[in-house]
Amino acid sequence: MEHKSIKKFENQTVIVTGGTRGIGKGIAISFLREGANVIATYAGNDAAALAFKAEQELFGEKLIVKKCDVRDEDAIVKLFSEIEVLFPKIEILINNSGIRKDQLTASLSLADWNDVISTNLTGSFLMSKHAVLQFMKNRYGRIVNISSIGGSLGLPGQANYAASKAGQVAISKTLSKEVAKRGITVNNVCPGFIDTELLADLPIEQRKEYMKDVPMKRFGTVDEVAAAVLFLASQEASYITGASLEISGGL
Ligand code: NDP
Repeated sequence: MEHKSIKKFENQTVIVTGGTRGIGKGIAISFLREGANVIATYAGNDAAALAFKAEQELFGEKLIVKKCDVRDEDAIVKLFSEIEVLFPKIEILINNSGIRKDQLTASLSLADWNDVISTNLTGSFLMSKHAVLQFMKNRYGRIVNISSIGGSLGLPGQANYAASKAGQVAISKTLSKEVAKRGITVNNVCPGFIDTELLADLPIEQRKEYMKDVPMKRFGTVDEVAAAVLFLASQEASYITGASLEISGGL
């Protein structure tokens, strides 16, 4: 007799911000493989978004790619109303979009401070706010923020990035308590060094230095992050909220 495997996220709908490249793309693919409908958003790199959609054509209309700047609340409202037409409910939000603009604090411009805070922190706030408005009606929801170990390590040159990532954890502490009674959980994963384009500007010598510090002596993969995200987004993780899970090779 044929054994039909049960997919963990069949009939669930997931938004992955920054879901067209890097870690977000890995998370989006993992959810698609587990049967979810995925809305992968991005900021401006149309070429990468279209290439991703084309690469994953076997998933058909279960993968929707949408340009939506997480800093823009009007764009977010429009995104949610467009999704409403396509899928009956949204169960999961992954706040993954993020940028880095490293500079020693004494030389850090206000513009670079604001860019990183508005993308990584304000973006997570705005997306979570509009997701929670929907989740509360359904009395179910999962939010997972892709924070960073940088939020607690405080590496030199990352005042803006570290503040934004620590801020995501702080928001999750508050929000998780606000919505706990409604069946909604809010958690974080804190990756260490993961091989994506975000680290492409690191000089080779600095990469080697960072790698020496990692007890596992290697950078992580997007799939290793995705595995933890899918667990926190699952129904089984129902008693975990306001928590942060490090995925850092032991850093
Ligand atoms: P990438 O640079 O590879 O991808 C970033 C994604 O975010 C892209 O899809 C990009 O869209 C999107 N994005 C950027 N700005 C916005 C915006 N304003 N609105 C909507 N989407 C936006 O990054 P990673 O995959 O490496 O990082 C993903 C997350 O993981 C980030 O939050 C990062 O801080 C975190 N992280 C990464 C680590 C690493 O070592 N790589 C370590 C720890 C945490 P577009 O393609 O249009 O530019």
